[in-house]
Amino acid sequence: MSNTLSKEHLRELRNRIEIIPLIAEVLELLYKTHDGRFRFMCPLCHDFDTAVKPDTNLARCFRCQRNFNTIDMVMTVKHYSFMQAVRYLQPILEHLLARAGNRPSLQNAPTRSRP
Ligand SMILES: [Zn+2]
Repeated sequence: MSNTLSKEHLRELRNRIEIIPLIAEVLELLYKTHDGRFRFMCPLCHDFDTAVKPDTNLARCFRCQRNFNTIDMVMTVKHYSFMQAVRYLQPILEHLLARAGNRPSLQNAPTRSRP
């Protein structure tokens, strides 16, 4: 297992893993849907004055004035270090990539030529 983290890899962890299922199903934070808007309980202030932006895949707490990407969210909820959060998210990303049938671009496996 490699310990090197490429920018590309980190970007995949932040963008490919959707923030809403991460919050609701993986980290199991309390959340509610109000007027079709997803609001989660902020792990810092425990308020629901929050929002998610699917286009940037960021979660925001208006009270704390903070944005969370997927890695920030895991670090905050689990009290993990950056590297621990990356390791936590890694199998989730691999699962997503496998399900999407995509070959992970971070893997530079030799291409096999078959007749
Ligand atoms: Zn907050």
